[in-house]
Amino acid sequence: MPRPAPPAPRRGRFAPSPTGPLHAGSLVAALGSWLMARRAGGEWRVRIEDLDPPREAPGAAQAQLAALHRLGLVPDGPVLRQSARGALYAAALARLLDAGHAFVCHCSRADLAVHGGLHRACVPGARRPDPAVRLRVPPGCAIAFDDGVHGRVRQDVHAEVGDFVLRRADGLWAYQLAVVVDDAGQGITDVVRGADLLDSTPRQILLQRLLGLPTPAYVHLPLRLDEAGRKLSKSLGAAPVEDDPVAALDAAWRFLGQAPLAPRPPGPSAWLVAALAAFAPARIPRGAPGRLAATHNAPDPEGA
Ligand code: GLU
Repeated sequence: MPRPAPPAPRRGRFAPSPTGPLHAGSLVAALGSWLMARRAGGEWRVRIEDLDPPREAPGAAQAQLAALHRLGLVPDGPVLRQSARGALYAAALARLLDAGHAFVCHCSRADLAVHGGLHRACVPGARRPDPAVRLRVPPGCAIAFDDGVHGRVRQDVHAEVGDFVLRRADGLWAYQLAVVVDDAGQGITDVVRGADLLDSTPRQILLQRLLGLPTPAYVHLPLRLDEAGRKLSKSLGAAPVEDDPVAALDAAWRFLGQAPLAPRPPGPSAWLVAALAAFAPARIPRGAPGRLAATHNAPDPEGA
């Protein structure tokens, strides 16, 4: 009797945008994705999402990687950088264009304003030198999936999102296309990230289906917000986490709804071993269990 094939190895990832230092909010996603991957006996990868040079802070990617190392969160395998993967995004886009799923769009932001910013049909006769490319989302196109924390999530992508951008008018790749190409390219089976991306997931599943790529399991973690209710990376509260690694890990751990580790392990390596043994994913809350006081740091540019 031939033996059944062993199940595919599980693989998680952390995919920061290099817009600033690793802060308490991104550490929640880093730690949560590491714990989920390791608990399943899987690998943990890191991908630098440097698709948008104007939003990048010089040196931020290196600083984020160094911070992860100091926290004991060491990636398995090479760190991928999206800035080096344009040819793969171009190939995926070409397939979508060839199949008629994507189209060149000359509409301006002002053209879409009358439709609440959503695109469902091109304005006749619109012409611009730098058109975008969008995915066609037909009426009735709804996507549902089971999130590990939020349960069943459903979105009518046509009604709520419309035809979305794959390559921007400025020539930059859209996050939605790049993330789908890269999650598949890296063999990611488990996507664990902040709940701000919950409403991007149906778009990503739609793209996976059109490109014939597998759909990973999704877990969306609560978002650490500052006192004004802003995501930390967009606020004044995005202080780097490096000063006291164990305290930073402890804070992220509590934010994930986990019971305090006692006795508190002295260094990050011992801390991670103890945390992995004690980790209870069912305790992860849907929403933020508490708010973090804003401290300091420069704000991101508008619209980041
Ligand atoms: N690069 C995104 C961010 O830093 C995360 C993307 C993802 O995890 O899919 O918010």
